[in-house]
Amino acid sequence: MALGSGRWPRRNRRLTIEECPVELDVDLLIGPRGVWAGTPVSGELQWGVNDTSIRFTLARDDDLRLTFAVEYAVEIDDAVEEVAEVIRFTTVVIGCGGLRHLFVCPRCGDRRKKLYVPPGRTRVGCRGCYDLTSLHHQRHDNRVAVLRRDPARLRPILQRPDEYSESERYLAMRAVVGE
Ligand SMILES: [Zn+2]
Repeated sequence: MALGSGRWPRRNRRLTIEECPVELDVDLLIGPRGVWAGTPVSGELQWGVNDTSIRFTLARDDDLRLTFAVEYAVEIDDAVEEVAEVIRFTTVVIGCGGLRHLFVCPRCGDRRKKLYVPPGRTRVGCRGCYDLTSLHHQRHDNRVAVLRRDPARLRPILQRPDEYSESERYLAMRAVVGE
């Protein structure tokens, strides 16, 4: 399979973010508790499902833009492949004039809080690029589908919402509006 070609074999189910061996979270990197302290830093992080070890350097490039160079190993067809990738950041202004850093997805250029390497893939990309769903949402969707199929379970939640939890009311509402 050609790496990085953008053509992948079709799967019968969507991958979830929970099974990605690599997950990069900008909030764990930059912020009050982040590792960025204004000077180039290098080190090693354990991120993702199996605590994949990620060697990184956080520095500024020639244009003084912050970059996050990462190196990690992924298993492809029982072989270990070393991958190196440079990820850029962008900032968005948040309330009170503060700045929030976000990753720029190296594949599509979208601004993202988290980036992933799904199982069987090598490069970093965002949820949209890899069409990732999450276990949480799948469970959620299943519960909504159950309610939609079974009016006897749905009706009492709508009729006596006070007797149900907020999440049950939310699921019932989604079952009714059909999303
Ligand atoms: Zn992307």
